[in-house]
Amino acid sequence: MLTIKSLKASVGEKEILKGISLEIPKGEVHVIMGPNGVGKSTLAHALMGAKTYQITSGNIILDGEDITQLDTTERAKKGMFLAFQYPVSVPGLKISEYLRNLYNIRHEKQLSVSEFRKVLKNKLEMLNIERSALQRYLNDGFSGGEMKRFEMLQLMLIEPKVAILDEIDSGVDVDAQKIVAESINHIAKETKTSFIIVTHYQRLLSFIKPDKVHVVLDGKINQSGDMSLVDELERNGYEHIRINPSSKT
Ligand code: ADP
Ligand code: MG
Ligand code: MG
Repeated sequence: MLTIKSLKASVGEKEILKGISLEIPKGEVHVIMGPNGVGKSTLAHALMGAKTYQITSGNIILDGEDITQLDTTERAKKGMFLAFQYPVSVPGLKISEYLRNLYNIRHEKQLSVSEFRKVLKNKLEMLNIERSALQRYLNDGFSGGEMKRFEMLQLMLIEPKVAILDEIDSGVDVDAQKIVAESINHIAKETKTSFIIVTHYQRLLSFIKPDKVHVVLDGKINQSGDMSLVDELERNGYEHIRINPSSKT
């Protein structure tokens, strides 16, 4: 379970997060929505310990342990994951090797190629990825749909405690959105990963059916609710919420 307590964060002199509190139980999917520039990505990066964003007060607590002072690598080791930072393309590195490394580091194992093949088997089937695709190279061009499948495969291999996905569904088609949604549902259920999903798309949310929806305005959570809040936003926009705050928090 992830608990965020009155989190404030700044970039330079400018305060961007002005006291965010959230509680995300194991296996729950929480969605963050809000207009541009309110601090959604700042929240994502501050949770992961990005140095650009100074946490000035508040706490981040993962399974009872305060991780506010830990650096990004240490947070990742504890099970925090922010999607998806690609390794700078390493010429000649095959996807299969990249994934095996990722898996071995995260789980402190040293699986061989054939052992890792077994780990991959059902995941590839579920995501409808051909094994031969893993023989391609990391810096090869991918279609939007392929990219999403590989991202979801990474997530399934890492099995994070908390996965933060910042607009990973932007600019992809419905099929790719479905892959993302089905994977999130599966991972939340199977590995009890808690999700924080930043998105603008109602369609993704209709496939996911999140446990909670939070609207961020001006560095704070202005309102929290269920899927009906998404429908309300679709009808009335954020301005309506800004003017009529908080019937559901
Ligand atoms: P959102 O993701 O909700 O669109 P962001 O968290 O990206 O919003 O940005 C919130 C505010 O913080 C904006 O005013 C943005 O200009 C500012 N900001 C974000 N990152 C940086 C940065 N690295 N340097 C300077 N200002 C930043
Ligand atoms: Mg933005
Ligand atoms: Mg953003």
